[in-house]
Amino acid sequence: MKQYFKVDEWRIIEEGFNSHYNKIAESVFSLGNGRMGGRANFEEAYSGETLQGNYVAGVYYPDKTRVGWWKNGYPEYFAKVLNAANWVGIDVSLNGEQLDLAKCKVLSFRRELNMKEGYLKRNFRAVTASGREVEVEAIRFTSLADDEAAAISYTIKPVNFGGYIKLTPFIDGDVVNKDANYDEKFWDEVAKHTWNDGGVLQMRTKKTGFEVATGMKYHLTVDGEPEHIEAEPVTREKYIGTEIRMEVKQGQRVTLCKYAANLSSQNHPASDMLELTQQLLEKVCHKGFDAMLAEQAAAWAAKWQLNDIIIEGDAAAQQGIRFNIFQLNQTYTGQDDRLNIGPKGFTGEKYGGSTYWDTEAYCVPFYLATADQSVSRNLLLYRYKQLGKAIENAKLLGFKDGAALYPMVTMDGTECHNEWEITFEEIHRNGAIAYAIFNYVNYTGDEQYLTDYGLEVLIGIARFWAQRVNWSADKQQYVMLGVTGPNEYENNVNNNWYTNTIAVWCMRYTLEVIEKVKAVSPDKYKELTGRIHFNEEAETGRFKDIISKMHFPYDDNLQIFLQQDGYLDKEQILVKDLPATDRPLVQKWSWDRILRSPFIKQADVLQGLYFFEDEYDTDTIRRNYDFYEPRTVHESSLSPCVHSIIAAKLGDIERAYQFYLRTSRLDIDDYNNDTEDGCHTTSMAGTWMSVVQGFGGMRVKDGKVSFDPLLPAQWNAFAFRIGFRGIPLSVRVSKSQVEIKNEAADEDVEVSVYGQSYTVAAGSSTAIPTQNNY
Ligand code: BGC
Repeated sequence: MKQYFKVDEWRIIEEGFNSHYNKIAESVFSLGNGRMGGRANFEEAYSGETLQGNYVAGVYYPDKTRVGWWKNGYPEYFAKVLNAANWVGIDVSLNGEQLDLAKCKVLSFRRELNMKEGYLKRNFRAVTASGREVEVEAIRFTSLADDEAAAISYTIKPVNFGGYIKLTPFIDGDVVNKDANYDEKFWDEVAKHTWNDGGVLQMRTKKTGFEVATGMKYHLTVDGEPEHIEAEPVTREKYIGTEIRMEVKQGQRVTLCKYAANLSSQNHPASDMLELTQQLLEKVCHKGFDAMLAEQAAAWAAKWQLNDIIIEGDAAAQQGIRFNIFQLNQTYTGQDDRLNIGPKGFTGEKYGGSTYWDTEAYCVPFYLATADQSVSRNLLLYRYKQLGKAIENAKLLGFKDGAALYPMVTMDGTECHNEWEITFEEIHRNGAIAYAIFNYVNYTGDEQYLTDYGLEVLIGIARFWAQRVNWSADKQQYVMLGVTGPNEYENNVNNNWYTNTIAVWCMRYTLEVIEKVKAVSPDKYKELTGRIHFNEEAETGRFKDIISKMHFPYDDNLQIFLQQDGYLDKEQILVKDLPATDRPLVQKWSWDRILRSPFIKQADVLQGLYFFEDEYDTDTIRRNYDFYEPRTVHESSLSPCVHSIIAAKLGDIERAYQFYLRTSRLDIDDYNNDTEDGCHTTSMAGTWMSVVQGFGGMRVKDGKVSFDPLLPAQWNAFAFRIGFRGIPLSVRVSKSQVEIKNEAADEDVEVSVYGQSYTVAAGSSTAIPTQNNY
């Protein structure tokens, strides 16, 4: 599917109804505000293909593990984000006939996601089986200003008839997860309460005991005038609704404003939630739909002010990047360090909605540059708080003495992944968590974080690596056996170059941080090392020994790092020689065939060269890029962005641009044929990186920000904003010049552009001629 949605710089537009694309559109038009979110399911009934999805951040269910053959060390459960009570529903009955687009002739249909102001709008005209024609307009949003609230304005006009219509706004807690291991229902009803114009339903998750109160309150107008109708509450188990029966004349416009609220026991005492939900509904209803919508637009304007990217002369690329930034801001606002970013955000159930290394490797850089420092700090604190569980997790696998292995997938720190080759072997994720600490401190300069939290995590991680390697008498080097690198199309390999590299880097960085903390806070250092029984001499001695004697597979002939021992034994065929009908491999080939092939799912050696580029010269990076990229199928959404950044660094601007397009429009154009399951939210941060780190060439080193911009031929100019150590900077790259503007009121900033240093005074800008001459 290509170009199903219309290209527009600020909106995603679906013109005409194609039920075949409905689930894709439901993902793309998803809404969220960091606390809750959901797919763009219709308000009225729909019996066609749909994936119902409403999610409340942090509310999950531990679904008992289901595997073919149990292996010791497997996690007991897979934590899943829950499909929670449906708050969007409004049943519509026209003289007794249910409005259901799957059973109507749809005369016109338009759905529009307004990313500038943060709302979803749907208009359609349809004729029911018995010939009743209606016109509908539905606008809805999840509020950023009141992040436990949402609102819908649903207007219906009978076009060719008059008579009785019945509107039933409802809350339905009798929902299921599509992705449930044992087809269980995950929610029990706790309480419900209805009143004339609304109600609240409180549900509790099985096992985890989260309670969520979901409420609604409505307001009715006919042709703009308030209408008071004696409505009838209807309730059944896990359901509350209010039936509003009214007689309408042909052409009259009936508007139902449905205000909704979702309160979670994570944030409120469960026993007060019915009442608190009612109070919040009163508050937002009093505010009114238009005022809430105006607040929403203002809140989004403030977000865009901080992190919009402007691409001039390429509307498809512009729409792509804004969609990514929009979804990231809808998913995580950084106010709560118990929350994180699932690979699908609030757009689907796949991947369980849990935390992966995606957060540290891809999302942290985005939030570092586009949000207050506290946002990325909260992402780090999330892991800090789960250190105990990471130590427990390592213990379960046979490690000891405070070694920490962070989970591949988690909600609360407990490992949830259920495939041995990932759960036990894809241990490079531990490195990404250490790398994020480095990245955060490097970007923000918040060295205190190392003393307060960072070092403790680093020691846990370094201890893990120190135990995970073994000495090879044969090689007279340390080796790391039986791992899965970022390229999940290889399992149980020995000496994955990336994993060995990040492991050694972690130990080196830990040693560096030990020295720093010892120097600035000797007391804290003493307290920490005492508490975690860190034997400095012995343990740092082992770290140093491993650092100096680690095995890194390398081919002297090709002068490249080998993805793993024996990689060159594989038949060396290239992606370009694969028939198109074989792609994607994961859907077309047996797993066994994939494992034996040289094909690479996503950046692996190149992920390491991206993270640690300063340690390698450009020729080394180029040789490895030239070798590995032609073998890479990019079947993970996390792949093209890293390639785009490296291609840009190497001056391969056309390839960088192609990779960029692929990442930025991945979901809008359903590139991987899987958008119907949800959007690729975490890789959206990678898209942002492709522009800012790739084309913008932004790096931070030694407390200074630098840019090395180049402009794709398809663009007239591009511009982005970042916050750097409290200073808002805007960067615009045109064909002729790079303009850096310091938007701070009173602080000058030193930046480097193309290797030259400039001081940009507060409130002023500096322009440098653009160089694209690699
Ligand atoms: C990728 C992983 C990633 C996960 C969640 C997988 O397909 O290979 O690197 O962590 O998706 O996004």
